[in-house]
Order: sequence, then C-alpha cells, then structure tokens
Amino acid sequence: SKAPSLTLNNGVEMPQLGFGVWQVPDDEAEKAVDTAIQAGYRSIDTAAIYENETGTGKAIAASGVAREELFVTTKLWNSEQGFDSTLRAFDASLAKLGLDYVDLYLIHWPLPSKDTYVDTYKAFEKIYADGRAKAIGVSNFLPEHLERLIGETSVVPAVNQIELHPQLQQAASRAFHAQHGIATEAWSPLGQGKGLLDVPTVVAVARKHGKTPAQAVLRWHLQTGNVVIPKSVTPSRIEENIDVFDFELDADDLAAFAALDEGKRLGPDPATFDAGA
Ligand code: NAD
Repeated sequence: SKAPSLTLNNGVEMPQLGFGVWQVPDDEAEKAVDTAIQAGYRSIDTAAIYENETGTGKAIAASGVAREELFVTTKLWNSEQGFDSTLRAFDASLAKLGLDYVDLYLIHWPLPSKDTYVDTYKAFEKIYADGRAKAIGVSNFLPEHLERLIGETSVVPAVNQIELHPQLQQAASRAFHAQHGIATEAWSPLGQGKGLLDVPTVVAVARKHGKTPAQAVLRWHLQTGNVVIPKSVTPSRIEENIDVFDFELDADDLAAFAALDEGKRLGPDPATFDAGA
C-alpha cells in the first residue's frame, strides 16, 4: 500500500487514504476499483445504497491482491435498521461483495426520528463478535448520538464517517471522537470537487508545493489526522489523489487552511435526514 495506516481502537489497521465509490454505477465500479487498486489504494469505501457492491467485489476478486491486504468498508442503509433486518442486510452485502468478512461495517445515518440505531448497533456487535466485520462503526452520527450509543452498548465505534473538508472542519465532532478513541473519517473530502478546489488559498498552497489543489486538500486531511476517501472515476485523478506522500504542508499552510472553515454542509443534516426510513 502507498498509504500509511491508522490503528483503530480495537487494534485493527486502517489505511489513512482510501477510494470512495459513491455515484459510481455498478457496471463502472469494477473498472474504477481495479484502477484504484492498481494505483496502490488498499481501502475501498462502498455502501448498500450505492448499489455497486457487486462491481466492487468483482474488482477485488480479480485484483490479484491478497484479501488481507485490502480494507473493505460497506454500510447499512436506513431502510434496514433494526436488529433482524440488519443481520439480513449484512448477509446480502457480503454476498454481493463476494466476501466472507468486511473490514469495517458502518451504520450509514443515525435516523434519530426513527430511534432504531441502538438495536441496529447491537446487531453490529453480533456481526463483530462473529468475526464477520473486523471493526464496526457509524457514519453521520452527531456527538449526542454517539454519547447515547456508547452509554447503551459495549463496543465503542471504531470510526465515525462524517462530511468533512476545509470548509466544514467539524471541530466539535473531531474533539469528541478524539476523547473517545473514535477515528474520524472524512466524506466528500474534496468538497465534491466543486468550489473548494478553486479557492485562492487552496490554489496558492498547492502551487507553492508544485502539487494540485486536490492534493493540497488531501494533505490537509492527512496532517489533521483524518481518514480520507476521495472519489474519482478518471484514472489520472485516481492516481493524482494517492500521490500525496511526497510533500508536507507547513505551519503557514495549515493556518491558511484553518481560516477556510465556514461550517457549511454540502450534504444533509444528520439531525433531520431520514431518507428510506
Ligand atoms: P469527493 O469530495 O471525494 O469529490 C469527488 C469529486 O471531486 C469527483 O466526482 C470529481 O468531480 C472531483 N475530483 C476528484 N478528484 C479530483 C481531482 N484530483 N481534481 C479535481 N477534481 C477531482 O466527494 P464524494 O464522492 O462525495 O466523497 C467521497 C466518498 O465519501 C464517496 O465516494 C463515498 O465513498 C463517501 N461518502 C459517504 C457519505 C456518507 O453519508 N457516509 C456521503 C457522501 C460520500
């Protein structure tokens, strides 16, 4: 692997940089994931709702890379929350992926209005105890949801995957995670490739290091301690996004990035999002 690993709170090693496949159609996922693995990625982030677990699994099977060298994450969709439905949904995800375990299984959204994430997580604890997920965690959980989960279950989530980029730096969540030994994983780390990569500060820092804006942003994540999962289907960008281990942002660069935080979400608010519930 080209990317260094972080050690999760249960001792499992997770590559700090991986490949995200949201919005990659199933019939394109095999090629995209294959390109990523050939480029040196060893961590893949999919989800049941992305409907590309099958293509992702095909690329993994064909990669020639040993299973234990790959780190595969998938997520439970909202409609399947609840103890029994979670166990069934997990079986379906494993079958589509063609795997007998995943490295990380995440509850995709907390759905506080449905109030089923505690029961759902108890099913996750069973899956974990059975060795079918090497680590379990959550996504889009606010500190109040994590607080309750930690109070009512036994396995502290290894990861919380949240929207995080220089314009949404998530200081409160990051502090809570650090206090509880939960790794922070950043989704939409490039701000979905929209305005962020044109921000003058980002462009200037990138130019200073002879790198691209996307590479400067990914470097900021790595030096902030985040796990990061940029997405692209363009081979040159897939390669560009993992070519971030030959330079380092300095204190001035980090201070300039700190000033970009606007607290503005691109995606839904976890307090109210309830699609599929
Ligand atoms: P991202 O921030 O990774 O941006 C991806 C987009 O940025 C690409 O589609 C492309 O348009 C552009 N891009 C990529 N590389 C580039 C480069 N080198 N130069 C210029 N532009 C570039 O956005 P994302 O896909 O939303 O997030 C990454 C991953 O996070 C997803 O694929 C998925 O795995 C995960 N995710 C999870 C959740 C969740 O609720 N848990 C939500 C969204 C995304």
